Amino acid sequence: MVLEGLGISLPSVPPELQPRVIRSSLGLPEVWQDLPPWSEVDVGEPDVPGAFEWIDLREVWRRWGDEAFARAGTAYQYMNWLRNARYCSRCAAHMSPRAEDKGLSCSSCENLVYPPLHPAVIVAVEREGKILLAHNPRMPAKRYSILAGFVEPGESLERTIEREIKEEAGIEVEEVRYFGSQSWPFPCSLMLGFTARWKSGELHTDGVELSDAGWFAPGEFPDIPPPLSISRKLIDDFVSRHSGKN
Ligand SMILES: [Zn+2]
Repeated sequence: MVLEGLGISLPSVPPELQPRVIRSSLGLPEVWQDLPPWSEVDVGEPDVPGAFEWIDLREVWRRWGDEAFARAGTAYQYMNWLRNARYCSRCAAHMSPRAEDKGLSCSSCENLVYPPLHPAVIVAVEREGKILLAHNPRMPAKRYSILAGFVEPGESLERTIEREIKEEAGIEVEEVRYFGSQSWPFPCSLMLGFTARWKSGELHTDGVELSDAGWFAPGEFPDIPPPLSISRKLIDDFVSRHSGKN
């Protein structure tokens, strides 16, 4: 995906990369043109030409902030989806972008698909002035964060929270409150943030999803996620409500 300048603009592809364009939003029907424009380019080698460089989406946020991250994340999710949905999952014929809306329809069986979005809950659980932080083996070594999990078919968000926290940490919670949400284009999640209060049970990790968990007061924290993420916003919110009270 090619970004330009302050990352806010996603331009047409510069001439030296044009022979390597695989597909581009500029070739999509009119109704798709309100999306941030993007082109998928096969650079073919780790070294990109001239003044270009590889950067990942998190680096877009670090350099240029929320708006650029949102635009690049939107473009990335559509680009990645169109790359992965070229053939019908029902009959294997070609899929084509629709002129009526941002969907794809099958040229043979009229199967209709839309971009995938995977909702996940992320929950800051408090107990007596401390917050629950846990280490997941997929995180960087020594990094701790709050609990998160994907919503499963048939579940309400409340049910997901109840199930995930019980499964991963062995406890029950109450007073669940909505905090805020964040698009998380890695590759197509929507993070739904909540706060909750410990109700009963003692911490017990399953050793698979989580290898360690504990209750931490402000000032006692291990390494926590960088400010980009809603997990960090929830942790910062906890700190702002509890600093000076311990
Ligand atoms: Zn089909």
